[in-house]
Amino acid sequence: MHTLAQLPFESRYTQLPTRLYQRLRPTPLTSPVLVALSADAARLIDLDLCQLQPEQLAAHFGAGEPLPGDDPVAMKYAGHQFGVWNPQLGDGRGLLLGQVRNDRGELWDLHLKGSGRTAYSRFGDGRAVLRSCLREFLGSEALFHLGIPTTRALCVVMGQGQVRREMPEPEATLVRMTRSHVRFGHFEHLHYSGDRAGYEALMQQVIEDHWPDLLAIPDQAERWAHWYEEVLKRTAELVAKWQAYGFCHGVLNTDNMSILGETIDYGPFAFLDEYRPDAVFNHSDDQGRYAFDRQPKIVHWNLTALAETLTPYVSVSTLEDILARYSDYFQQAYRQQLSARLGLAVEQWPLVERFLQLCREQSVDWTLFLRDLAENKDEKQLLDHVSDQDLFQHWLRHWRKAVDERFDSIEQRVEALCAVNPWVLPRTHVLQVAIEAAEQGDFTEVARQLRSYRQPYQRLPGHEDHAAPPPAGNFVHLSCSS
Ligand code: AMP
Ligand code: MG
Ligand code: MG
Repeated sequence: MHTLAQLPFESRYTQLPTRLYQRLRPTPLTSPVLVALSADAARLIDLDLCQLQPEQLAAHFGAGEPLPGDDPVAMKYAGHQFGVWNPQLGDGRGLLLGQVRNDRGELWDLHLKGSGRTAYSRFGDGRAVLRSCLREFLGSEALFHLGIPTTRALCVVMGQGQVRREMPEPEATLVRMTRSHVRFGHFEHLHYSGDRAGYEALMQQVIEDHWPDLLAIPDQAERWAHWYEEVLKRTAELVAKWQAYGFCHGVLNTDNMSILGETIDYGPFAFLDEYRPDAVFNHSDDQGRYAFDRQPKIVHWNLTALAETLTPYVSVSTLEDILARYSDYFQQAYRQQLSARLGLAVEQWPLVERFLQLCREQSVDWTLFLRDLAENKDEKQLLDHVSDQDLFQHWLRHWRKAVDERFDSIEQRVEALCAVNPWVLPRTHVLQVAIEAAEQGDFTEVARQLRSYRQPYQRLPGHEDHAAPPPAGNFVHLSCSS
């Protein structure tokens, strides 16, 4: 167990060529205060919660006071934004403060978002607003507890200053944690800069730190091809989870793709309320490029962009063979997850497809329907969620027959299905309640929601407001400005 000041920092990333970062310290917020903390995330780096003072977190993550051993850098990367190459990206408003090794030997990045301008800020002010920090804080902790790979969030600190977006908003910072912040865009940056030495150094470090087993493969081309397939497989499985739970990322640019296959960079993200697969949440996404149902395709596009950077090292035909397996990895994981949510075998997929079709045609809040189905609610309650009861009754008859053969008892079925069908999700309109209270100085709702999202597979008494669907006709487009 450590106090903040005792965190054992190590710097792996700053051993890489300086083309990959700019060293600088955060720009302080005005009179910062801690407004949200995830004890679960703190435990990942063995922080002693009994000794953790809110003032200390505010001092180090808001007022910019150094921690012994930290070595903040803005990471440099590039990327394809909405399909267009942009060499000028990087941490424009964030800093990797350093990396901390926990008692289990794991290295965790501490990244401060909203920490002021950097060499990669372009026209931006280097700041983040309270609204977006709270959305990322609650959203990413919620995804983790749902079982969807994601970056974590340690805390949110708010300053008394204002930041100009569509209107002035309170400034804030968020401490993000993950085992690696390396993005597809890091490799794109080095590839298109023609920096082979840098590329090789980054690849070597990434493999040493995250895929040490691959070091046993002596041939570099073969080793890197295996690495690429691992990244592709993890990424396909991540998207399968998004699709199986209704998560829409909103800005799937290649700079927002983690090489670890985690959800990263929470902007205009949203969970589907009604099952509307063509939903577009990002209001700057005129073409619907990042619509919910296009995510699997777009991620394949992003993986192709990553493969392109490997072409000097791995043969194109090998890379194409791996890319061709993406669809299988995705389909297998997707079908498995959704079938499990219905208690069905993968072979019973047509019944799952029919369910999704009915949900789509009737705009059903599929999360609530699935939870009631999991809890074995009676037919009348189930049919309350739908508009054409006859069609659903017909489907339910087939479903009952199919699941009856798969479980020994109703109790067993309820237990299995409740474990994969959440009651709460960080729905946009619910997050908004916490944000509006926070903007009025009341942070109790943020803490209350964190409690719900920590146990999404439980019906927590007194938290019914967090599971409630949005008011009818409330479809929100989310702003990218954060
Ligand atoms: P994103 O859309 O969040 O993936 O950000 C795209 C790029 O813009 C990244 O290089 C960010 O670091 C940068 N960026 C986003 N917001 C700001 C800001 N307020 N100030 C400076 N850079 C920013
Ligand atoms: Mg980004
Ligand atoms: Mg962002």
